[in-house]
Amino acid sequence: MADCIFCKIVAGQIPSARVYEDATKLAFMDIGPIQPGHVLLIPKAHFERLTDLPAEVAADLAACLPRLARAVVAAARADGFNLMQTNGTCAGQSVAHVHFHIIPRRNDDGYRFHWQPTAYKPGEMESWRAKIAAEVVRAQA
Ligand code: AMP
Ligand code: ZN
Repeated sequence: MADCIFCKIVAGQIPSARVYEDATKLAFMDIGPIQPGHVLLIPKAHFERLTDLPAEVAADLAACLPRLARAVVAAARADGFNLMQTNGTCAGQSVAHVHFHIIPRRNDDGYRFHWQPTAYKPGEMESWRAKIAAEVVRAQA
């Protein structure tokens, strides 16, 4: 994609701080880290959202995540990490090339996601369960 910043990174047209790459995927430092050591993993091919990925591309990326997360945690001497993935501007996606955030976390880092659980009314969760279960059957693998 000509105007995609991550495609330009893959092509070497703009700089990136690469930590891992192979024929199909690339991991590099996020320039706006939530915490120091924040890494992004992307497929080299352009896909906008997770839902656009063929199963084999998704599997290839997923297989790399534990190794990459172990590396980030070890390098940062972190106590844990967040795996984040955004799809659509409504969900905070600012770069329209699918990417996984690996963010090292420490017990004392003081960072909090704005995560406010709500509650279902009686019967509401079952209604959602049924709708989603039906869509899972309809959706292509
Ligand atoms: P998201 O907001 O989930 O789409 O994440 C996009 C991420 O890409 C943000 O965390 C940005 O800091 C990061 N980012 C944008 N441009 C670059 C770049 N040129 N090099 C490295 N990371 C970038
Ligand atoms: Zn792209």
